[in-house]
Amino acid sequence: MFATLSDRLADTFKNLRGKGRLSEADIDATAREIRIALLEADVALPVVKEFVAAVKERARGEDVSQALNPAQQIVKIVDEELVAILGGETRRLRFAKTPPTVIMLAGLQGAGKTTLAAKLALWLKGEGHSPMLVAADLQRPNAVNQLQVNGERAGVTVWAPEPGNAQGVEHGGDPVAVARGGVEEAKRTLHDVVIVDTAGRLGIDAELMQQAADIRDAVQPDEVLFVVDAMIGQDAVTTAQAFLDGVGYDGVVLTKLDGDARGGAALSIRSMTGKPVMFASNGEQLTDFDVFHPDRMASRILDMGDVMTLIEQAEKAFDSEQALKAAQKLSGQGGEFTLDDFLEQMQQVRKLGSMSKIMGMLPGMGQFRDQIENFDEREVDRIQAVIQSMTPAERANPKIIDGSRRSRIAKGSGRTVSDVNQLVDRFFQARTMMEQMARGGGMPGMPGSPG
Ligand code: GDP
Repeated sequence: MFATLSDRLADTFKNLRGKGRLSEADIDATAREIRIALLEADVALPVVKEFVAAVKERARGEDVSQALNPAQQIVKIVDEELVAILGGETRRLRFAKTPPTVIMLAGLQGAGKTTLAAKLALWLKGEGHSPMLVAADLQRPNAVNQLQVNGERAGVTVWAPEPGNAQGVEHGGDPVAVARGGVEEAKRTLHDVVIVDTAGRLGIDAELMQQAADIRDAVQPDEVLFVVDAMIGQDAVTTAQAFLDGVGYDGVVLTKLDGDARGGAALSIRSMTGKPVMFASNGEQLTDFDVFHPDRMASRILDMGDVMTLIEQAEKAFDSEQALKAAQKLSGQGGEFTLDDFLEQMQQVRKLGSMSKIMGMLPGMGQFRDQIENFDEREVDRIQAVIQSMTPAERANPKIIDGSRRSRIAKGSGRTVSDVNQLVDRFFQARTMMEQMARGGGMPGMPGSPG
């Protein structure tokens, strides 16, 4: 995500390192570099102009902190301006005073609406709501079915027109009636949020806008969300404006951010439409979805990491009792940390998503981008396979794993003996290190740590 911009900005900041104060020429040069960086990221020109002007003015102005060196001052200004163009405060979903809250999705075909409907429903479920999905996209063949499949994966109810009944399927059906029926059903069955998936077209056309507007009038949504594929760059802004005129909406959802190396849509859409980005979708899995936080996104662009999101995800995914047990073992209480514990921890971490995604959220990882993106996720599977080929006794007490056991484990897991050796050795090293840290000794071998 936003790799081009991150790299460009990092270079700009590097050029300022070691400068005692910023001359007018330094500020001009920096502003020029930032301008190029934003243009390369495909940010809309009016947004670029405004951004650069603001950075320049503030860099010259008095509001720069004396406690920071010039490079840090510029980073701070760029960070704050990025947060501002991304929308400032996080815009959260507004729920109706009397349920159900009705959320309507609109956007072009292929934008990712149907996928997003299920992601949003799953997320709402995690927040303690009881959402229902309504399949009012009767245009695209298979859209109803796709929503049903995704709804099932998310474990949420889907209201869909039955094949052959009066509401019909696909081309013959009346999406307005389906949408209205869905909201009625939700009231009856006490679902507190209804998500209405509507049809899209490949391009903007009057009929599509009219249908969406009719559905909107029929169900009176509390939130209309415009769903847009971030990978289409500045076209996203054009589409966003057309939907604003044709249907109107309260917020934007960016999809496919995982495939968007530039970030033009994300950085332009708020300023160009005046509507906040509320959610972001970044992958094919139903859990690849989150609230859009302008400040965290700016941090990621500036390679300062997104530890807040990582912590939140961990809190949701981890079994806290199990984590506590592992932590106690590492601090010398409750028995020794075993390979079983290690395996369990590894499986918990994997619930957060791919290793590359997790590492990408840590600060300062920009320099390792290539390695992270090319990280072979199967490596984790291989480690798991080796551990799973051990007997319970071996996992509980890895010290007993001698030569003959090692060759048996290697055979069982389809790895080499040296893979097994490496894993066992690393496990002992890591355990020793973690135990020392957990007991308050700091990093072993670091100056100032006892022992
Ligand atoms: P709709 O026509 O707007 O309902 O779009 P779909 O939900 O059918 O999505 C179109 C395609 O984009 C599907 O192949 C999805 O799997 C894919 N897709 C949706 N969201 C994302 C995302 O965040 N990342 C990636 N990589 N693919 C996505």
